[in-house]
Amino acid sequence: MTRFAYFKNEFVPYEKALIPIGTHALQYGTACFEGIRGYWNKEKVKLYVFRLKDHYKRMKKSTETLHMKIPLDIEALSDITIELIRKNKHRENIYIRPILYKSDDIVSRFNLDNLIDTFAIYTVPLGKHLNTDKGISLVFSTWKRISSKAVPPSAKPTGIYLNTCLAKTEADSKGADEAILLNEDNTIAEGSAENVFIAKNNGLYTPSEDQNILVGITRNTIIELAERELGIKTTEKSIKKEELQDADEIFLTGTGAEVTPVISIENKKIGSGEVGIITSNLQKLYFNIVYGNNYKYKKWLSEI
Ligand code: PMP
Repeated sequence: MTRFAYFKNEFVPYEKALIPIGTHALQYGTACFEGIRGYWNKEKVKLYVFRLKDHYKRMKKSTETLHMKIPLDIEALSDITIELIRKNKHRENIYIRPILYKSDDIVSRFNLDNLIDTFAIYTVPLGKHLNTDKGISLVFSTWKRISSKAVPPSAKPTGIYLNTCLAKTEADSKGADEAILLNEDNTIAEGSAENVFIAKNNGLYTPSEDQNILVGITRNTIIELAERELGIKTTEKSIKKEELQDADEIFLTGTGAEVTPVISIENKKIGSGEVGIITSNLQKLYFNIVYGNNYKYKKWLSEI
């Protein structure tokens, strides 16, 4: 069965969506992207894409920050994405990757305004990214999170993901599941590709937007669900390393990570060393919603 990609304004077989070696984005990391999940509901025989328009809203903002232009509005981007998913006939959980990149085949030109932007989307089947059932182990990365004064993390530029790759590679080499990246002052920024939450004395805490984080769509989802459904407020603030280690519960959020419980940091147990009650309640809510089983939050889903 042919798998399609959307590439240069048309649907083409995935194998035909190729870029030349000299492409600016390949050479210099000049692209921004989104990561979106689609969930296959077997009983309903439907695929639900989670917060599609919110991802494209964020991408629009990224393009402004990075002096890029996307010639389509949010409605058109969403429609093209849905058409691509239909063409690819997915009947499993999927990951959707839109990318806008500097496509000039050119060296030594660095003014972002004088380069061509090309838009593409592809989709891949995707299961679990992290162990959401049993929870995961963390280590503090020796790599610092890149400051938003150097490169804005909220614009999801591809180049900044070298920071993610270095931290994740280090975590793997230490036998841990994920890394926590710290800011220069040793406060908590985020996971390699996830936002971090702490539960302490029935309150939730997460690094604020000024902490060099990507302001996650899952993060915002969880803040809203915790307050509306569990009556738990989230405080956004600067969080010290010690506060993380003393937490009752920790979990990571992200499109890939979903809601992933953390059971240890640097080999020390968090709370009881098992998945905590707030985390597991939020997980239940989240999974119910994304699979299209909670009518109340239908507004976040595109049904295919
Ligand atoms: N931080 C980083 C660095 C990420 O790459 C991601 C994944 N996109 C997140 C946080 C979580 O963001 P979201 O919930 O929007 O996927």
